[in-house]
Amino acid sequence: MRVCNFSAGPSALPLEVLQEAKENLVSFENKGFSIMEISHRGEVYEKIHNETISSIKSLYNIPDNFEVIFMQGGASTQFALVPMNLNKGGFCEYVDTGVWSSKAINEAKLQGLDVRVIASSKEQNYNHIPSFTFSDNADFCYITSNNTIYGTQYKNLPQTKSPLIIDASSDIFSYEIDFNKVGMLFAGAQKNAGIAGLTIAIIRKDLLDIAKNVPTMFRYETFASSNSLNNTPPVFAIYILNLVLKWIKKQGGLNKMNTLNLKKAKLIYDIISETDDFYTAYAKQEDRSLMNVSFNIKNESLIKHFLANAQERGFLGLKGHRILGGLRASIYNAVSYENVEQLAFMMKEFKEKYK
Ligand code: PMP
Repeated sequence: MRVCNFSAGPSALPLEVLQEAKENLVSFENKGFSIMEISHRGEVYEKIHNETISSIKSLYNIPDNFEVIFMQGGASTQFALVPMNLNKGGFCEYVDTGVWSSKAINEAKLQGLDVRVIASSKEQNYNHIPSFTFSDNADFCYITSNNTIYGTQYKNLPQTKSPLIIDASSDIFSYEIDFNKVGMLFAGAQKNAGIAGLTIAIIRKDLLDIAKNVPTMFRYETFASSNSLNNTPPVFAIYILNLVLKWIKKQGGLNKMNTLNLKKAKLIYDIISETDDFYTAYAKQEDRSLMNVSFNIKNESLIKHFLANAQERGFLGLKGHRILGGLRASIYNAVSYENVEQLAFMMKEFKEKYK
């Protein structure tokens, strides 16, 4: 039996991916060994590795002047690596849209850089994406495309002259992106791209030459010039990513994912937005995330009943993040329309019973 999994991350994987991984776990393609037990430099693993990179490039239609690299340390490590690698001694600009961008800002400040927070929604407790204009001459400018905790998301990526850095940890592979707008995009894999232990970075080649005195394993160029094989990569996480990408292709690609994600999110937001105000959405309407629906029940004493009800039905992960409270339904790519429908049905029923 599988639950309806609305966890924020790590989160639901497509069942087909789990099944294929299971079939190949002990003996990969009937070879008598698992993918975790062989050299990362042998041809069996290298085929998966290279195919995974190619899949990312083709799914996102990534121009030739970009490298796809695989790192470790989670997205949080990127908070430090981005400024280490990309600052040129000038200034960098950040938009503060929540916990994850604040952490990134702090890491840049720790390095003694000229860090400019050009806009922040902190005063409204991050319930929206603020408006802003980046300078044309920053070393880099930085956004978090989807704010996992507050449930806000950029509907359009800004057009910038300075290299745009995007933390897409919670919305990678959920819609098409024009990489001509991007300097670098990174994401921990454990939401839309598989399992923890792998960080994906897609970086414009001209940004690889900036870092000079950065330690080898912290330097993007090391990963780009070695095809991410300078040392042992997280082979199993890359294998799972490979399966997830195949699954996305099979669903029809990123545009298809986006269409489905819009439909799924609408099911939940429509109920929340009903005029009786039984439920309340956390984020302002125009900035609502298609990945994380953060919401509350106006009568907060009902939350524990809601969660108990959800648990009885086999719904997992609906408790809001500890710093925000309330409820959150994470409806990433792998959460099916049917599962979201079941949640919508339960939300309606619950409302009828308690309103
Ligand atoms: N950025 C965002 C937008 C996130 O949601 C998270 C984790 N939830 C992180 C960064 C941190 O990721 P990690 O745990 O891989 O360091």
